Amino acid sequence: MKKHNFSAGPCILPQEVLLKASEAIMDFNGSGLSLIEISHRSKDFVEVMENARSLAIELLGLEGKGYSAIFLQGGASMQFLMTAYNLLEKKAGYLNTGTWSEKAIKEAKMFGEIVEVGSSKDENFNYIPKGYSIPEGLDYLHLTSNNTIFGTQIKKFPNTNVPLVCDMSSDIFSRQLDFSQFDLIYAGAQKNMGPAGATLVVIKDDVLGKVSRQIPSMLNYQVHISKDSMFNTPPVFAVYTSMLTLEWLKNAGGITAIDEINEKKAQLIYSEIDLNPVFKGYANKEDRSNMNATFNLTDDKLKDTFDALCKEAGINGINGHRSVGGYRASMYNALSLESVGVLVDVMSEMERKG
Ligand SMILES: *Cc1c(COP(=O)(O)O)cnc(C)c1O
Repeated sequence: MKKHNFSAGPCILPQEVLLKASEAIMDFNGSGLSLIEISHRSKDFVEVMENARSLAIELLGLEGKGYSAIFLQGGASMQFLMTAYNLLEKKAGYLNTGTWSEKAIKEAKMFGEIVEVGSSKDENFNYIPKGYSIPEGLDYLHLTSNNTIFGTQIKKFPNTNVPLVCDMSSDIFSRQLDFSQFDLIYAGAQKNMGPAGATLVVIKDDVLGKVSRQIPSMLNYQVHISKDSMFNTPPVFAVYTSMLTLEWLKNAGGITAIDEINEKKAQLIYSEIDLNPVFKGYANKEDRSNMNATFNLTDDKLKDTFDALCKEAGINGINGHRSVGGYRASMYNALSLESVGVLVDVMSEMERKG
């Protein structure tokens, strides 16, 4: 039976990417050797890295705009501290929109003064704070574009002269934005790009070199950029698979095309959540994420029935995060509109039964 994978992360990747990646594990580029048993300095792998880096810049529309893309290890969680290590001299602003923002704040506090410019903690992060003011003299403002756990997404980014740093782990390459408004973007691969183990960092070159502290080589963006993201052995399989996904996305029409499909998927599920009395949405309507739809049953007694119907339909991975409860349907780039349709059918069957 076909599985419909709504997992929040690690999560669904395109079938053709999985197929090509598994072929390369056995025989990379017809070399008779596996991708994971050859030198990362070999011509074939260097090409993979260059291709992955330039595809990222190209898809984001940042060619010729002074940005570098690198693939690092340590997940997005490592970026919580690396961003502060490299950019925070005195004071930075953070918008607190959930668990991931809070973790980023905790790390950054080790490097300087942190101003929480806004927070939605009072409502367990079911909305995006708006109308907050951005104080003078910040080294940067840190945002989380999509809150994977709570199902909220920033739709409009602040218009400010302060450099913007954005954790885009769960919605990078999913929607059309002017990416040049950001000075640094980071994203763990495992939500829209590839397997866990690689983290994409896109940095505007002129934002670096402004802090006075010494930075250890492995944590220094400049070092990784100057070595073309090959300062040490990169996570070769994760980078290769990410490259395949980026190629897949480019062939599918890039971000503009996927954005349209993601919008359709989101409309389909949210209109069901809004119209079906068996369910209620978690996130504030205007802030709802196109990637992660969070919702609850209006009557918890229906849980066993709903879970059984989902299982029967091949629906996988829709349990909500423990800090929210209920359900979460993650609809990353590789998830088809058809899969969302299958979930929506099960939801309407619940209404008929209820
Ligand atoms: C998953 C996630 C993280 C954590 O990523 P790791 O790679 O596990 O460190 C951080 N931020 C956001 C928005 C996420 O969705």
